[in-house]
Amino acid sequence: MCATKLSSNKSIRVGQLVRPLVRALHPYVPGEQPKIKGLIKLNTNENPYPPSPHVLRTVKAAVDGRLRLYPNPTAERLREKLANLHHCRSENIIVGNGSDELLALAVRAFAEPQSKSKIQPPKLAKATVQYFTPSYSLYPVLAEAHGAATNAVPLKSDFSLPGLTELTRLRHWDFNAALTLVTTPNAPSGRGYAITELEALCLAQRGIVVLDEAYVDFADANALPLALKHPHVLVARTFSKAYSLCFQRVGYFVGHPELIGALHKIRDSYNVNGLGQIAAEATLTDLAYYRANFRRIIATRAGLDRELTKLRFQVLPSQTNFILVRPPQFPAEVWLNKLRTNKILVRWFRAPEVRDYLRITTGTQAEAEALVRAVKKILEG
Ligand SMILES: *Cc1c(COP(=O)(O)O)cnc(C)c1O
Repeated sequence: MCATKLSSNKSIRVGQLVRPLVRALHPYVPGEQPKIKGLIKLNTNENPYPPSPHVLRTVKAAVDGRLRLYPNPTAERLREKLANLHHCRSENIIVGNGSDELLALAVRAFAEPQSKSKIQPPKLAKATVQYFTPSYSLYPVLAEAHGAATNAVPLKSDFSLPGLTELTRLRHWDFNAALTLVTTPNAPSGRGYAITELEALCLAQRGIVVLDEAYVDFADANALPLALKHPHVLVARTFSKAYSLCFQRVGYFVGHPELIGALHKIRDSYNVNGLGQIAAEATLTDLAYYRANFRRIIATRAGLDRELTKLRFQVLPSQTNFILVRPPQFPAEVWLNKLRTNKILVRWFRAPEVRDYLRITTGTQAEAEALVRAVKKILEG
């Protein structure tokens, strides 16, 4: 009824009822989910291997009349198992509907929305969400949705982290930013960062630092100890990429109980679905299966690097389950389309820092071989 009344009133355009901030927002653009049969999907860094048989059996066995019940509100058992794994307490952990949810909660818990008032300075440090470019393209969307100021600072041209002296010299790096988000290993470049480097950066920041380790299982080192050592550092992890559970949406943060407690206060009451909790718990009892897959993916990544390098691609070193490559002969966007014609989907970003590159998920050995065949075919015209 309400809708009819509004639309009959010509003076009210329904779009005007949306907050101006939301109207002006540029939403996150997820990787394409094509419906084309036989297409090899190397565009969203999903794990090419399925969850372990034990995880699949456990999830299936949980699908019964219990679906009518609310799940555990704090994912208590999962947090205990994660605490065990990471040698901390369950108070150090919050589980989210994917780590994306927790990143959004962190923005809301730690960064003030910008004041509209003319009296206050427009860019309060307390309102600033800071990140490097390129990195996870969701960060600016989350900050803008909250009305926080953003401070995007470029990585070096080889996608390494600027050191502290460089950051100081850069002037516009903000050591007082309310929240600094660091994708490590970096996406979309795949580059890994040394723990000493990350620790130096964390120690120089006076606000909160989130180290987003979505791809860390494919890397040589991880920064989790920093979250247990420094009270203002949080580490973000996810079951999506390494543990083949994108569909179930389970991620978590590790950090100081005060910060974790603040995030618990503002999350939805039942933020993590029950089957997701069950799947993640089962995953933790079967880590050997996943570690074998990490080794396979890393081996495939190394082979892909060798083959594409031979074909005159510039392949950046990767500590993730994808590679960033600068292709020869045609612009990257043309490669994207030519590969698509050959039924291989990769990712291309329009952003200036990466527009000359393609991001390619490693895939299975067979998928990587199909990619190399398609590349050869394209190069031969
Ligand atoms: C995929 C990804 C995430 C989000 O993972 P979910 O747990 O699926 O929400 C977070 N950060 C980075 C850098 C990612 O690539």
